[in-house]
Amino acid sequence: MTNQKEKSHSIPMDHPRYKSLTYRHKIIEGMKNLIVAEAGLIAHGRGEAFDYIIGERTTETAKKAIEAAIAAFLLADHPVISVNGNVAALIPEELVKFSQVISAPLEINLFYRKEGRIEAIEKVLRQAGAQNLLGINESEMVEIEELSSNRRLVDPRGIKKADIVFVPLEDGDRTEALKKNGKKIITVDLNPISRTALWADITIVDNIIRAVPLMIKITQKFKKFPRDELKSIIANFDNVKNIQASLDLIISYIEEQKIEAFKGLDV
Ligand code: ATP
Ligand code: MG
Repeated sequence: MTNQKEKSHSIPMDHPRYKSLTYRHKIIEGMKNLIVAEAGLIAHGRGEAFDYIIGERTTETAKKAIEAAIAAFLLADHPVISVNGNVAALIPEELVKFSQVISAPLEINLFYRKEGRIEAIEKVLRQAGAQNLLGINESEMVEIEELSSNRRLVDPRGIKKADIVFVPLEDGDRTEALKKNGKKIITVDLNPISRTALWADITIVDNIIRAVPLMIKITQKFKKFPRDELKSIIANFDNVKNIQASLDLIISYIEEQKIEAFKGLDV
């Protein structure tokens, strides 16, 4: 019937999984352009699986975590946004916009370094309008302790001096290392029981593609709030309870699907 095509690839717009396939395509293109590491494909698939079982929506629970995260970010002295290949491939424009509204620099920070990858990520972020980009000049980087991988190298103007670091889609070892270096961690991670989710101070269990646009909106609203109000939003937030609430939502979504998933099917 319809023959609508999305501009950049050939997924029909009426495909029931159009959105998911579009972002999958961005990850694949990102890999071809060196932005995404091979392992990034697998990480994306793991994320998709968790998104499926939370109902591919931003829950009220995730929204509460976003509110606490924005309050903490607005109260921080040196907030920094850590960027990896997957995030840069999926939402470059939103990332740049968020960095601007929250006044925090973007720092490129990679687990899998490969020649040309930092440049490729820099390019996509610059095309999206980024000006204040850190983590680009390797000769200026310094080490953080507790970590043996490549990502022990951080920018002295960014993660090194940050009090709060936003590390979406992050690996557990690195989150643990940043915590041990005294940083407060905010993450977006669809897996509520990944090590990153558990180590973080504020864990937003949501898809990065939905979370960041909402984070931009909430920043614009919270910017007008007095500091005391922001402080009380943080004081009223409990990350362990919030993660547990996300797990409960997954349980109840799966329970519902025992009936819902079969509706309209001739089975
Ligand atoms: P950990 O090391 O924290 O135990 P892991 O080894 O499973 O977790 P990594 O590949 O190190 O995972 O990190 C990627 C994380 O990002 C995974 O938990 C994955 O579920 C999550 N993820 C992937 N894509 C998205 C997305 N689009 N939005 C939110 N989270 C995502
Ligand atoms: Mg990991």
